[in-house]
Amino acid sequence: MLFNEVLDLKGKIRIYCRVRPILPGESKDQSTVDYVGENGSILIVNSLRKGKDSKKVFSFDKVFGPTVSQEQIYTNIQPLIRSVLDGYNVCIFAYGQTGSGKTYTMSGYDLNTKETWGVNFRAICDLFQISKTREDVIEYKVGVQMIEIYNEQVRDLLVIDGSTKRLDIYNNTQLNGLTVPDASWVPVSSTQDVLDLIRIGQKNRIVGPTAFNERSSRSHSILTVHVHGKELVSGTIFKGSLNLVDLAGSERMDKSKVQGDRLKEAQYINRSLSALGDVISALAQKSTHIPYRNSKLTQILQNSLGGHAKTLMLVHISPEPDAIGETLSTLKFAERVA
Ligand code: ADP
Ligand code: MG
Repeated sequence: MLFNEVLDLKGKIRIYCRVRPILPGESKDQSTVDYVGENGSILIVNSLRKGKDSKKVFSFDKVFGPTVSQEQIYTNIQPLIRSVLDGYNVCIFAYGQTGSGKTYTMSGYDLNTKETWGVNFRAICDLFQISKTREDVIEYKVGVQMIEIYNEQVRDLLVIDGSTKRLDIYNNTQLNGLTVPDASWVPVSSTQDVLDLIRIGQKNRIVGPTAFNERSSRSHSILTVHVHGKELVSGTIFKGSLNLVDLAGSERMDKSKVQGDRLKEAQYINRSLSALGDVISALAQKSTHIPYRNSKLTQILQNSLGGHAKTLMLVHISPEPDAIGETLSTLKFAERVA
């Protein structure tokens, strides 16, 4: 199937897999990823097993190897982003264990270095640029919300003072279609506006109430771009949204080793990631009952998943031999939702 056909299919969940490079200090000759195929297959070698059992092939819509650049990743996502301006709801999830490259893909590495820009910033810049080319026929308004879900509590990431008011979720359409209407909704009209917002959001994500760096790995962050379009001739109004989600690390905690807050966090994360998997696979199977209510994450995204929506799961894996167990469970998760 042609790439654009894959992206254009409605109701289909698209799965891409990205393998991050081996980082300085990691052993070069023991990568667990043996082959990144052109056709979307990937061969994983598990050195803990022998013979036939040591090798397993997984197939997705696309597989990106360790040398694939941020720009190339974005090029493969761009058609989905464009469809937001046509009134689609698009969700892009970064899934994978902590350290597999989710934040690198979504937020980028350094906002001051263009080559390392992530999907978030490239997507929003693109939305502006495309909307400008259409300004004679459609008037667009773009607004951004950025929230975090930590231990099933929703927090606004766009507050300047770092306040931590708990936010409620609404799933009716009276409230302007916003599922978290109390989270700051910031209109943006330039890429500089977006850059400023992303900086605030990233800062808030790191200095939460339990201030330590790892917190961002234990929470889901959702950057939502709301697009309102008005066709100038007919006056027709339409809406589209783009949800860019950096999920909490998918690693399983050893219950005998973690306790207290850590265990609670781990349980919340496991539950919400399985709820997401359940919703996506129910949608893929066109089930009559979609279990949105089992987590805050799926409740918030209820209006953006299914129906007039396009979903992309960006699955991340690390080539480290120590990560083999998590790598396999990540790929199995992806297979289940495909
Ligand atoms: P996660 O968000 O999944 O925990 P990170 O995005 O923080 O993982 O990535 C872990 C480390 O690997 C970081 O130091 C990051 O800069 C690096 N890294 C991840 N992906 C890539 C990549 N494609 N190219 C170069 N470095 C990467
Ligand atoms: Mg991260």
